[in-house]
Amino acid sequence: MTQTKDEGADLLSLYQEIILDHGKSPRNAGTIESHSCKSDGKNPMCGDKVCVTAAVDDAGFISDIRFDGKGCAISIASASMMTEAVKGLSAIEAANIFAAVRRLCTEDIEPELVKEEIGSDLGTRLDKLVALSGVRQFPVRVKCATLPWYTLLACLEGKDSATSERAGAARKSA
Ligand code: ZN
Repeated sequence: MTQTKDEGADLLSLYQEIILDHGKSPRNAGTIESHSCKSDGKNPMCGDKVCVTAAVDDAGFISDIRFDGKGCAISIASASMMTEAVKGLSAIEAANIFAAVRRLCTEDIEPELVKEEIGSDLGTRLDKLVALSGVRQFPVRVKCATLPWYTLLACLEGKDSATSERAGAARKSA
């Protein structure tokens, strides 16, 4: 029995399953009519588009979040998983969890280490998102996976657009 190899393959197929599931039946799809903020994100590399609307309560926590998107399975799955992960969080917590997701997508780092770094509360929310780390092997896909997150950050910062390069790349409207 080549156990390590099998475990690796199992993990990979588990990741694929999670992503396929969210890609096929996205959670929190749609638009919040009475939103606190709204932002449109674009990933020109792949053609992914995502629109994030969020409702933020008086205490500064994300009480509701939805996304509307057209794009590849990775971008849709990432958006869907993001909406589940950040509901109830503050803008700072959401930014922290994205920083962790970005590391998982770009660095060869143990998920357990990243979880430890952001603390147990956020770490639990990171569990499913580890599935996105599969894009690490496909650098072009990193932009697909991070697009919804950049768009969320832009949304929470009051910017109306974002790209997969960085949040709020569009000039400030003022
Ligand atoms: Zn894409």
